[in-house]
Amino acid sequence: SAPLLELDQVTISYRRRRDRVDAVRGVSLVIQPGEAYGLVGESGCGKSTLAMAVMRHLPKNGILSGGHVLFEGRDLFRLGEAELRRVRGGRIAMVYQNPGSALNPTLKIGEQVAEVFRLHAGMNRRNAAEAARAILGRVRIADPDRVAGLYPYQLSGGMQQRAVIAMALATDPALLVLDEPTTALDATVQADILDLFADLRGEMNASILFISHNLAVVQQVCDRIGVMYAGELIEQGKVSEVFKRPRHPYTAALFDCIPDFGVRKRDRRLAGIAGGVPDLADLGTGCLYEPRCLISRQVCRVEHPDLLRAGTRHLSRCFFHGETPAPGSAARGRPE
Ligand code: ATP
Ligand code: MG
Repeated sequence: SAPLLELDQVTISYRRRRDRVDAVRGVSLVIQPGEAYGLVGESGCGKSTLAMAVMRHLPKNGILSGGHVLFEGRDLFRLGEAELRRVRGGRIAMVYQNPGSALNPTLKIGEQVAEVFRLHAGMNRRNAAEAARAILGRVRIADPDRVAGLYPYQLSGGMQQRAVIAMALATDPALLVLDEPTTALDATVQADILDLFADLRGEMNASILFISHNLAVVQQVCDRIGVMYAGELIEQGKVSEVFKRPRHPYTAALFDCIPDFGVRKRDRRLAGIAGGVPDLADLGTGCLYEPRCLISRQVCRVEHPDLLRAGTRHLSRCFFHGETPAPGSAARGRPE
């Protein structure tokens, strides 16, 4: 079928005081209707930048400096204002990490959700209020009538996030972009929200772009996974395949940082790999992961690998993808 979302060689740059950095470099990926795609990687690798590009909602100093973002076959960055408004917050809805910032503190929950129905579906007040209560029930809020009458500050973080998710679903989006939607929540609440996403996937047709630094979370919610490193997509494949046999040493190292992955646990940041990410303003010619890589060779220092086929619908940006250590067996120390 025709892809819902297609990123074609997307590069996004930020102007800074003295220079310009490419926070996302040459990323191509496709999301099919109904598919859930998980994007993972360490802090600063460009996940949110990519998500903001999908909303065509980049910070003031950010530009799409290369490539195209196609949504339902149309170039997002060429849409006029009116069309863009229909897409953003309509056909594409986004849920951010911090639910508090997405809610208006001066409006009752029911009013905020109803407003989405009024604006997007053109409903009158009474129908919108009715629809708001119904959708609050759909995100598993047990007593929607009561919650609709509360202000955001009267809700827990988990309930706030449910309300935000309800607002995102209210436009019946074709694509739901979730940027670390559970990170700000504590462990049990995070697990509840993930269960909710799993349920909702069965009930709605929306595709999901799910951004997280947490591999276990992506495993629970997604069909396919993309791994980013320093602005690049370095591995992509079906969740079942990548989790069984990662084909990039960075992904393998991520698994080793999470010895008990598969078990729900709060906030497992991908921070356990020795060494730091490269300076985006000063990249060499070789593989960006080479300085931290456990299996690197001479060629990796001088040549930048393309995304290579490493299996059925499985891509890896590693010359030696066939030799990637299995999770849990990564050799310690670098071969010289
Ligand atoms: P995190 O996991 O911490 O949310 P991320 O993967 O979402 O990280 P981004 O927020 O997309 O990463 O940032 C990618 C890179 O772009 C980082 O190096 C960051 O410092 C830089 N960056 C982000 N926003 C801006 C901005 N407005 N101006 C300049 N640089 C920026
Ligand atoms: Mg981010």
